[in-house]
Amino acid sequence: MGKLFGTSGVRGVVGEQLTPELALDLGLALATHLGGEGSVVLGKDPRTSSDMLESCLTSGLLSGGCDVKRLGIVPTPAVSFAVRRLKAKAGVMITASHNPPEYNGIKFWAPDGMAYTPEQEGAIERIYFGKRMKPAAWDRIGKVGAVDVLQSYIDELAGVVELERGYKVVVDCGNGAGSLVTPYLLRRLGCEVVTLNSQLDGFFPGRPLEPSPENLRELCSVVKSIGADLGIAHDGDADRAAAVDELGRVAQPDKLLALISAHQVGEKGDIVVTTVDASGTVDECVDAKKGKVIRTKVGDVSVAAEIKKRCAIFGGEPCGAWIFPKVHLVPDGPLAAAKVLELLSSTGKRLSELLDELPEHPTVRKKVACPNEKKATTMKKFKAKLKREFKGISDVLTIDGIRFSFKDGSWALVRPSGTEPYIRVTAEGRTPTRANEITGETVRILKKAMRG
Ligand code: MG
Repeated sequence: MGKLFGTSGVRGVVGEQLTPELALDLGLALATHLGGEGSVVLGKDPRTSSDMLESCLTSGLLSGGCDVKRLGIVPTPAVSFAVRRLKAKAGVMITASHNPPEYNGIKFWAPDGMAYTPEQEGAIERIYFGKRMKPAAWDRIGKVGAVDVLQSYIDELAGVVELERGYKVVVDCGNGAGSLVTPYLLRRLGCEVVTLNSQLDGFFPGRPLEPSPENLRELCSVVKSIGADLGIAHDGDADRAAAVDELGRVAQPDKLLALISAHQVGEKGDIVVTTVDASGTVDECVDAKKGKVIRTKVGDVSVAAEIKKRCAIFGGEPCGAWIFPKVHLVPDGPLAAAKVLELLSSTGKRLSELLDELPEHPTVRKKVACPNEKKATTMKKFKAKLKREFKGISDVLTIDGIRFSFKDGSWALVRPSGTEPYIRVTAEGRTPTRANEITGETVRILKKAMRG
């Protein structure tokens, strides 16, 4: 059977992989999956193709017997909020997150506000590829309406954040969906907000949508030049956030994740979930507050599932996808922005101070070429050789790739790329020499495993 869904819904270049016909069929397949009744909330980011895909998905859902509640342009987490608030049977978000403007994507949400799991996506794929889509009879076709959820979404977020005072914040939404929420949320919390690239524009003229340091130079210089306390940047659908300190430096994502994780720990034993690729700084900060870190597979769907299973108080990935389960089980960029301010407020410190108090753990990343068909056997052989050839390993985790750590807190992750013919090696040491040493040894054993 074919595959439609990748790591984050159906994603592709519009008119090539992602066609109007596919969107129509996906709408009808979802309606069929839902038994041809109930309502589906439908949101979109501001891409030039989003109106077109929205129309196609709407037609598919209506023809399958579901009612459609159009949310208009909203951040992805607002769809999760709307599914629960409006008691819908499913949610659909049209977005390609941080991808360039010619891309778009379609992602499904369950009634509890969680993204569809690979199993749920598989059920849609079976209907689609098995041509089991069921159009409704003329008198069972659904109805369409519009619902504005943004104000109640902002109210909900504002209700879970407490600030002692207002801050001066520069917000760079990259012309994406966050433009409609984050500036308003932070003003509501008493902040003075200066916006950058916060007019919706599907051509994304402001900057590339990935909120990585090389794309945030303008934000950094504005924060510094106007004397702001903080800079915030989102990706296109604002499920992620990055921060810039008052000195105009992009906060290292792992350090910020460690600070926020520790800040969420209220009681001894509180659980924080993070992914296998996150820095050991997260463990150090959470341990210091007597919390517990649980590692899971890379990807926000895995983090959300683990939070639910363990009743964790927080979960996050180093890419800036942070989940606050008190609100919902989905990464939420506007809420992340507000939570960074709450961190400043409760500690009374500047972001640069908080970041500089943390230890530096140098990280080295390497990729080793490996044909896709050899990945599985190479990983198996690598695992067999690892403990025999590498001295001093204290712990091995095999939930996603192979992560092994040492008594001094250094660790490495060996993980095949999901899309490219590489096996990636990440190593974090307590010194640059140690990080390089671990990387070198890991690559050596990996190459040996590849040879046989
Ligand atoms: Mg995103």
